[in-house]
Amino acid sequence: MEKFDTLIIGGGAAGLMAAVKAASLGQNVAIAEKNYSVGEKLLLSGKGRCNFTNAESDMNVFISKYGDNGKFLYSAFSKFSPSDTVKFFRWIGVESVEERGKRIFPVSGGSQRVLDAFIMQCKKFNVKIMRNTEVKAFKVKNSRVDYIITDNNEYCADKYIIATGGKSHPKTGSTGDGYRFAEQCGHSITKLYPALVPVKTKETWVKLASGCNLRNVRLNVILNGKKIDERFGEMEFTNFGVSGAIVMDLSSHIPDWEGDLEFSLDLKPTLTNEILIDRIKREINKHSGRKKFSGLVRTLVPGDLVKLILELSDIPEDKPVEYISNDEIQEFAALLKDIRMGVNGLWSFNNAVVTRGGVNLKEVDPSTMKSKLCDNLYFAGEVLDLNGPSGGFNLQVCWSTGYIAGSVN
Ligand SMILES: Cc1cc2nc3c(=O)[nH]c(=O)nc-3n(C[C@H](O)[C@H](O)[C@H](O)COP(=O)(O)OP(=O)(O)OC[C@H]3O[C@@H](n4cnc5c(N)ncnc54)[C@H](O)[C@@H]3O)c2cc1C
Repeated sequence: MEKFDTLIIGGGAAGLMAAVKAASLGQNVAIAEKNYSVGEKLLLSGKGRCNFTNAESDMNVFISKYGDNGKFLYSAFSKFSPSDTVKFFRWIGVESVEERGKRIFPVSGGSQRVLDAFIMQCKKFNVKIMRNTEVKAFKVKNSRVDYIITDNNEYCADKYIIATGGKSHPKTGSTGDGYRFAEQCGHSITKLYPALVPVKTKETWVKLASGCNLRNVRLNVILNGKKIDERFGEMEFTNFGVSGAIVMDLSSHIPDWEGDLEFSLDLKPTLTNEILIDRIKREINKHSGRKKFSGLVRTLVPGDLVKLILELSDIPEDKPVEYISNDEIQEFAALLKDIRMGVNGLWSFNNAVVTRGGVNLKEVDPSTMKSKLCDNLYFAGEVLDLNGPSGGFNLQVCWSTGYIAGSVN
């Protein structure tokens, strides 16, 4: 049976980082990757541009992005921080640039450039990349991984790192196998949900505005009739519900909100009700005798939203604006500030950017990524119960945990 110092299961962001780190320390390292090529999901990241970390410099703010589980990362980030990531990327030949929302991207070449740089490092340090090698099972003896079984062989190592990713975008190879391996080694897995994912609504009229992108809107979250959260930014209607940056961000919290959950969309968040009513009246005066209600709507909302607003409003679309009553103006203003949608669940893992849930963090040493239950087992990346918002936070988990898991402890 072929033996390695370190055997990494999964050649994604976390596995590649762990491999480069371990091999640079002189270890004999192999990656078992079930796909023909490594880093398939990495190539998709940031729409091919790879938003690989975030420039937020306040560590407490950075950590808060991961919710309650974020505190697990203090130790990892103190050993390999987001700014260490930027330095590391420079070292492997990837210069970076900061963009909106402190997102950090490669200056040029995007995800492919990042992947090529990691593959170069693997070559430089003689990492053996075993492509088309699907790990099927872990064999454990006396609280140690004894060997692993793949679809065509068996391998053993002094140290094993599970870096198989989560369940999101399974076409890239992340089909949740790592959870099964962790369980074979005695670990528990917290409940898994798709996260950073579009949301389904009860209302089917959303499809009237499908594809409509909205900027600078506010989405209020209403649980059992009470506002509990909000987001400001970009949103999009889909055939089955809503998507876009603010929806994706909220989606990660939806499993926590049990009860009657609604979204209330405010199309005019910078205007008070009174100012909006004045604005509508001004438009009516301007177009009196010349416009119908549908024309008035067109002056107030983006073109591809008009159909939906006309559907939701009780005012007939061909009503001349001068006949619109004060009550109708108030109702129309109220609609623009509160379009209600009942939340009807999340889209599937196929559409999710990350997985919420994973290997129980209580069973992993935060300063080494070593299993507390199995002597020679480590974890890195999305397989752990860690997930953050978009903005480079999820890849940062992979770099830090991968680097630490690959270090010699
Ligand atoms: C469309 C999209 C865009 C994204 N954009 C960003 C972004 O811009 N910034 C950001 O921070 N995050 C982004 N993310 C999230 C980020 O890409 C992931 O969090 C990250 O890639 C996870 O890395 P990983 O190494 O843990 O797992 P993965 O990248 O999923 O890698 C796991 C690897 O393990 C292999 N594997 C699985 N099971 C087995 C097995 N049984 N045997 C052998 N190999 C196996 C898989 O084939 C895969 O190659 C994005 C995600 C998606 C889907």
